[in-house]
Amino acid sequence: MNYDVIIIGAGPGGIFSAYELTEMRPDLKIAVFEAGNPLHKRKCPIDGDKIKSCINCKHCSIMSGFGGAGAFSDGKYNITNDFGGTLYEYIGKKKAMDLMHYVDDINMRFGGEGTKLYTTAGSKFKKICMQNDLHLLEASVRHLGTDINYVVLENLYNHLKEKVDFFFDCAVEHVKAENDGYTVICKNNEYTCKYCIVSVGRSGSKWMEKVCKEMTIPTQSNRVDIGVRVEIPAEIFSHLTDELYESKIVYRTQKYGDKVRTFCMNPKGEVVSENTNGIVTVNGHSYEDPAKQTGNTNFALLVSKHFSEPFKDSTGYAESIARLSNMLGGGVMVQRFGDLIRGQRSTPKRIEESFTTPTMTATPGDLSLVLPKRLLDGIIEMIYALDKIAPGMANDDTLLYGVEVKFYNMEVAVDENLECCHKGLYIIGDGSGITHSLSHASASGVHVARNIASKY
Ligand SMILES: Cc1cc2nc3c(=O)[nH]c(=O)nc-3n(C[C@H](O)[C@H](O)[C@H](O)COP(=O)(O)OP(=O)(O)OC[C@H]3O[C@@H](n4cnc5c(N)ncnc54)[C@H](O)[C@@H]3O)c2cc1C
Repeated sequence: MNYDVIIIGAGPGGIFSAYELTEMRPDLKIAVFEAGNPLHKRKCPIDGDKIKSCINCKHCSIMSGFGGAGAFSDGKYNITNDFGGTLYEYIGKKKAMDLMHYVDDINMRFGGEGTKLYTTAGSKFKKICMQNDLHLLEASVRHLGTDINYVVLENLYNHLKEKVDFFFDCAVEHVKAENDGYTVICKNNEYTCKYCIVSVGRSGSKWMEKVCKEMTIPTQSNRVDIGVRVEIPAEIFSHLTDELYESKIVYRTQKYGDKVRTFCMNPKGEVVSENTNGIVTVNGHSYEDPAKQTGNTNFALLVSKHFSEPFKDSTGYAESIARLSNMLGGGVMVQRFGDLIRGQRSTPKRIEESFTTPTMTATPGDLSLVLPKRLLDGIIEMIYALDKIAPGMANDDTLLYGVEVKFYNMEVAVDENLECCHKGLYIIGDGSGITHSLSHASASGVHVARNIASKY
């Protein structure tokens, strides 16, 4: 065997697997294969000046490389079983919470000390939300901010680089089960290992599907969240964001009974685009450093779509909608809420005259040509519901960027150790479909590392 353990993917899942393994079993030979670049080489070419929109780089620096999709994220570690994944269904609620707290402690030791931990426990907003048919989910959230998140990742890399062999710009093409372990096949080489941890995240979703087919690992998929990113002057939501930082609010629409929720709230942040497998969608982040903050707050409003038999391709469905917006807008599209309600497209002039200044360059357009009626109706209903707890939310100049999609990787069948039907092959993080967040993905990494360390 070349290695005791090979980890595929250097996102939070892969990093925390490597960290815990090196802590518990420093004698093990460990390698990490990562399709993207080391942290210092990750740079999205969009500068808003010469390059205004996505140019489809070989590896999307926002999604790939050391730190994974989370590297330039807002670094919000939500410590909760209420959202961010269903890890607790496999390992139990208490263990999942303990692991998330453990990850938080490590982040604090590696540069995150001094950052704020917000909590919804005992918040007056719970009642105010309920009185307006809105539901505030329970969570503690550690907000590292994009800048401190980067520092933590840099420190973790410096800590790990002497203990682990890192292979960057080295996408794994296939995994082959052998008698006593696995062969990991890259473009120019093959490596063997006893245990293999697969942590390829959302950007590796297509690859994961292929590997599951090749190795006959059972999977299921039926959910996707589709919506828009909302941008408003920070003052409109400041009473919530000052106290809670991130509020996850769920609303059930009166018209269809669909659930619409707020997601990834970025006070004084900026809207960004992201590229998953060639499809450009929208996202957002914010900085801890006041010098880098903007005057706007952004968050997503997402409608959950669960499909039933015989339809299975929920990802394909969402991708088709995202492609429509890319086709009409050449990338991300932006529309004023007032224009949407009046049934007119936003034009460059209307956006320019808007009292809310966009933080991202997007093509003014008409989201009603992109989003199915049922989804758009749900989003509009939710905006009016939020207007009751944050007056100003339904103003004409509220900006809506589309589309935002939360792809859920198909769920891979794994047991309580996150081990699949092939013994010694672990599927973790967002690539497993079980987690959808930094904290859950990281916790899943620690969990499998402990399992391997105890078996070896
Ligand atoms: C802009 C943005 C902001 C976000 N903000 C937040 C936030 O504030 N809070 C939060 O909880 N979550 C946030 N998320 C989501 C969060 O980043 C993910 O849930 C988390 O990174 C998942 O970790 P992971 O290790 O499972 O996968 P990833 O972080 O996606 O890492 C997977 C890695 O595997 C690599 N890979 C893929 N295929 C292969 C292959 N075949 N061979 C080798 N390597 C491969 C990829 O290049 C990638 O680096 C955000 C995401 C984005 C894009």
